[in-house]
Amino acid sequence: YTPYHVIGGGLAGCEAATFIANAGIPVVLHEMRPLRETDAHRTDKLGELVCSNSFRSDDAETNAVGLLHAEMRLANSLLMRCGDANQVPAGGALAVDREGFASAMTDAIASHPLISIERGEIEGLPPEAWGNVIIATGPLTSPALSEAIARTCGEESLSFFDAIAPIVHFDSIDLEKAWFQSRYDKVGPGGTGKDYINCPLDRETYEAFVAGLIAGDKTAFKDFEKTPYFDGCLPIEVMAERGPETLRHGPMKPMGLTNAHEPTVKPYAVVQLRQDNALGTLYNMVGFQTKLKYAEQVRLFRTIPGLENAEFARLGGLHRNTFLNSPKVLDETLRLKTLPRLRFAGQMTGCEGYVESAAMGMLAGRFAVAERLGKPIPVPPPTTAFGALLSHITGGHLAVEDGPGPKSFQPMNVNFGLFPPIEVPKVPGKRLRGTEKSIARKKAMSARALGDIKSWLGALDLPSLAA
Ligand code: FAD
Repeated sequence: YTPYHVIGGGLAGCEAATFIANAGIPVVLHEMRPLRETDAHRTDKLGELVCSNSFRSDDAETNAVGLLHAEMRLANSLLMRCGDANQVPAGGALAVDREGFASAMTDAIASHPLISIERGEIEGLPPEAWGNVIIATGPLTSPALSEAIARTCGEESLSFFDAIAPIVHFDSIDLEKAWFQSRYDKVGPGGTGKDYINCPLDRETYEAFVAGLIAGDKTAFKDFEKTPYFDGCLPIEVMAERGPETLRHGPMKPMGLTNAHEPTVKPYAVVQLRQDNALGTLYNMVGFQTKLKYAEQVRLFRTIPGLENAEFARLGGLHRNTFLNSPKVLDETLRLKTLPRLRFAGQMTGCEGYVESAAMGMLAGRFAVAERLGKPIPVPPPTTAFGALLSHITGGHLAVEDGPGPKSFQPMNVNFGLFPPIEVPKVPGKRLRGTEKSIARKKAMSARALGDIKSWLGALDLPSLAA
């Protein structure tokens, strides 16, 4: 075989390279460090963890990232092997010795007989002579390469910052307080005039909320991030600091909305939530990007009527991140539609998190192998963590074009809101409610996923995969 080129020796690139090499295809893995550094990496190791040392929950029964761990172990993931071998105590989470983990990743790649590592920055699109390649250069892709990618897929299809509004699980919103209505009952394309969920605030609740935003504990920007404020994307606490009325005239404006539960009482302010995935299981808080610390966000957002018991699929944020508008530009096997010899992997595809990035590396590797061997390329079922994440990335998400919030695709961690709904199994003689019901649902989703992933993994018959 001619070698397969993988660009980026981070979590996704190492996972992809290993998968391809284990299938008997030689790989050249390109990594620019230490010849050229990023602003967050500190070493020349492959698979370096740039911040926390945790892969989050390892509970495969009731936690979506724990389920992804389990699926990745079944798929013989390098990240999971090195993670398990370098575990440090962290309760129910899988946390690792950072040095030991990166050394294990580096050794595994360096000692693989079919992988060679080339140090050096890829400064533009990879040469055509390399054929099909995987690009896994991460959230801090070097400027020369990201500019070339932006030129290829369109400037507007590559983002350099996440501006993330919090995302809430639909079934945790209290619809006895909140109601469905589009502003001025406007019916947009494919809409019904009832496309948003609205949460009403009276004056007292609004003023306390604004005071809470101003007083709240915030995360500072890292030096290299600069302050990326631009109009249309201001954090809500920055808007609150500009004056007590600012939010009421911005993302919390009550105009054109009538509280269905109390039509005669005009809300003083309204928080709107917009459907975030095709399944309708997730809703984002429109225009609510924020740098408030996570615990503070949960505490404050639960003071909003209708969100008292809100469960968050992801909290708000604003940070440096290079990622594609994947639902628009990638096909279902992660190839650039306009230039299919480029396949993307890792955080650049619009997932978020160490484990998710590695998972997208493994998928890219698997698709690349199937393609090279001329085999069919089945995508993982959407009922699995691999499939749910892939479907978010390649099109499960609804890109909504109106409203003041983020107007397009935003990265996300794996979570149960991305999975197709499931009937909660009945327990004889017992009526499940609240947390019990939610746990039973998660367990049922996990069991379904683990069944489905096994048949999918078995579907690609690769002679040397056991190597
Ligand atoms: P990376 O692991 O970053 O790998 C990309 C590799 O490509 C790097 O080694 C880089 O040097 C190389 N590269 C870049 N450009 C080129 C080029 N032109 N030529 C050759 N090589 C190149 N996730 C979490 O789960 N927990 C956290 O605590 C966390 N903290 C984060 C903190 C920061 C500051 C950032 C930016 C992200 C954080 N993430 C975190 C998100 C994400 O999980 C990690 O960034 C993860 O490492 C992404 O994996 P990746 O393989 O896509 O990219």
